[in-house]
Amino acid sequence: MGHATMGKIMWVDLGRGTIAIEPIPDRLYEQVLSGVGLAAHLLYDRIPAGADPLGPDNILGFVSGLLTGTGSLFTGRWMVTGKSPLTGGWGDANCGGNFSPAIKRCGVDGIFFTGVSPRPVYFWADKGQVELRDAGDLWGCDTLETEKRLQQKDGRHMRVACIGPAGENRSLIAGVANDGGRMAARAGLGAVMGAKRLKAVVLGGGQRIPVHDREAVKTLSRQCNETVQFAPPFMNGMMMAYAGSLMRMLPVQMAFDGMLYKLMLDKYGTASLNQIMVEVGDTPIKNWRGSNEDFDRDRSVNLSPEVFTDPMVVKYHCYSCPLGCGGLMAKKSPWPGAHKPEYESVMALGGLLMNDDADSIYQLNDMLNRAGMDTISAGGTVAFAMECYEKGILTRAETDGLELTWGNSAAILALVDKMIRREGIGDLLADGSRTAARKIGGDADRLAMHAGGQELGMHDGRYDPGFALHYSVEPTPGRHTIGSQLYYEMFRLWEKMPDLPDVGLLYTKGSKYDVDDEKIAAAAACSRFMNVLNGTGTCLFGALLGVERLPLFEWLDAATGWNRSPADYMAMGERIQNFKQAFNIKHGVEPKSFQANPRTFGRPPQTAGANAGRSVAIEDLMRAYWRHFGWDPDTGKPGEAVLNRWGIKTKPGV
Ligand code: SF4
Repeated sequence: MGHATMGKIMWVDLGRGTIAIEPIPDRLYEQVLSGVGLAAHLLYDRIPAGADPLGPDNILGFVSGLLTGTGSLFTGRWMVTGKSPLTGGWGDANCGGNFSPAIKRCGVDGIFFTGVSPRPVYFWADKGQVELRDAGDLWGCDTLETEKRLQQKDGRHMRVACIGPAGENRSLIAGVANDGGRMAARAGLGAVMGAKRLKAVVLGGGQRIPVHDREAVKTLSRQCNETVQFAPPFMNGMMMAYAGSLMRMLPVQMAFDGMLYKLMLDKYGTASLNQIMVEVGDTPIKNWRGSNEDFDRDRSVNLSPEVFTDPMVVKYHCYSCPLGCGGLMAKKSPWPGAHKPEYESVMALGGLLMNDDADSIYQLNDMLNRAGMDTISAGGTVAFAMECYEKGILTRAETDGLELTWGNSAAILALVDKMIRREGIGDLLADGSRTAARKIGGDADRLAMHAGGQELGMHDGRYDPGFALHYSVEPTPGRHTIGSQLYYEMFRLWEKMPDLPDVGLLYTKGSKYDVDDEKIAAAAACSRFMNVLNGTGTCLFGALLGVERLPLFEWLDAATGWNRSPADYMAMGERIQNFKQAFNIKHGVEPKSFQANPRTFGRPPQTAGANAGRSVAIEDLMRAYWRHFGWDPDTGKPGEAVLNRWGIKTKPGV
C-alpha cells in the first residue's frame, strides 16, 4: 500500500445486502489522486450509459481526500458522487465537517453504494465491523434529529452523513448533510440516496492513515498555520460596504489577495461578503434582473456581516482547519446549535428574492438544512416562482393562495415549507426551476436561472466573466466553487508554474470581458486545480490563500513520497476533467446544453446598476476553453485521441 491512501474501497450492494472490498492499485492514485478523481474514474466505467439516476444502476460514492488525515491543513472535505438526477450528467458535491477522516479511518478511501434497498437502511462501520441496519424508525426524521439519534445509539464518536425529508421525497435539489446540517448540497445527490432508501452512513473507524514523511508534513503545516493565525484588527461590515461602493466607481480593478479574504473569513466567515458583493455587482439580485440599486445599502444593511455574526457564540472549524470560518448558533437563539447561514444561503434567500428580513433567512436556512435541501437551488427556484407570479404565469390560485411578491418573507417561508413537504405548489417546485419551468410550459423557461438544470451560485458572471464561463462549461454546471477570474487571482498559481499568466496588480475593468489566451489559460488552470483540490479533500477557502501560503503541492509530495512537480499534479487535474466530460458524453449530455440562461451573462445587458452595459461573449469563451483542452470547439466533446492520451477508454457514444 502506498502512502496517504488506504489502498482500497468498499462496495455495498443495497439490493442484495452484500459488502465487498476492492483493492486500488497505487498507480491509479498517481493518475487521478483520490476523492473526486478516483470516483470519476470508477463511475465513468461502471455506471451504464443511460442509467436512471434514481434507479438501481446509479452508484452513489462517498469519498475522502488523498490528503485527509495526513496532518496537512484545510484537508477535511469529503465528496458525494454519482450521476446527477438534476443535470443528467456527472454529479459531485463537496462538504466540510468531520466525516472525511472517518471514511479513511474505516480503512478505505471511498464507500460506493449500488442497487436499491427494499426497506430504509443505514450503513454502519466501526472497528473493522460493517453492517446494513434497519432505518425504519429514522425515515421521516430531519438531518439533525437523525444524526442525534444515531449518535445516541451508536456512540458520540460516530460520524454521520444523512438525508432529511427532501432526500426521502426524491427532491432533485436535495443534498446530504453531516455535522449538524452542513450540506453537500449540489447536484441533487440527496435524491439518489433517498431513492436507494439509504438514510445514513455512520462511520467510526480507528485505522491509522499512512504518511510518507510525517515530519515534513508537520513542518509545512506549522508554516501554513503561522500565516493563518495572522489576524490584525479588521474593518467592520459597513466599512466593507463602502469599500465595495468605492471599488464599483473606480475604472480599474486591483487584483484581490487571498490574505485579505482570510481576514474577512476570520472575522465574519462568508457572511463578510454579504454587503460588499452586492455593492460591487457580484451578488445577483431579484432573480438576476435587479442590481445593487434595487438592493441598496439601506436594504443590504439588514443582512450585514454583523447581523449574521452576533448570534454566533462558537466558531466552527472543519476537521484539520486552522481558520474556522463557520459558526454555531447560541443556545439562547431560536435555532440553538444550528450552523449560521453562509453568504450563498443569505443571498439566495435574501437579495435574489429582494428579502431583507434576516430572521426569515435564519429560519429558512435552518429549515433547509434540516430538510436536507440545497439553499442555493431552493432560493433560485423561489425567485423563479416569484417572477412567474409577477408576470401572471403563476396565479394566486396556483400558488395555493400565497402572495409571491418580491421580499414577502412570510410567503417565502410558507413556500419553502411546501417545497420540503412536496405539498401543492411545493411539489411543482421541489425539483428545481428547470423541471418546474418545463411543467409550467410557455415562457416560464426564460425565467429559470440555471445551467443544465443546476441553479447558479450567488456570484454574477456579468461582474466576473470567469464565473459565467465556469457556470456554462464545466461538466458540473452552475457551480461557483470551480473557477473565476477572482479565484485565479487569489490562487496565484503562476508562482509555482511560471508558464501560467500573472494577472499583475491592476487592470482595467473592461479587460475582464476580453476573450484572449490568458483568460482561457487561467480558466483551464482553475478547472485543473479544483480537481486537484477535490482529489485531495482540500477546502477552496484555504486554497484562496495562494499556493505559496497553502503548500498543497509540497504536502502532496511529503504525504505520498511521489516527488512530482506542480505541473504533474495539474495534469492529474486535467485527466479528472476529461473523465467527467467523458462521463457526460457517455450519458448523452450535450455540453452545449449546459449554457446558462442568457440573462445571467448579460444578454440583454442591464441598463442600471454595477453591471450596466456588461455582456459576456459566452460562446467564444466556451469554444476557446474546449479548444484549450483539445476538445471539439463546436461540441465540447473530447475525441478518442485526447481520451486515449489520458488513458481513458472510449465507450459507445464517446
Ligand atoms: S475554511 Fe471554513 S469551510 Fe474551509 S475547512 Fe475551514 S471551516 Fe471548513
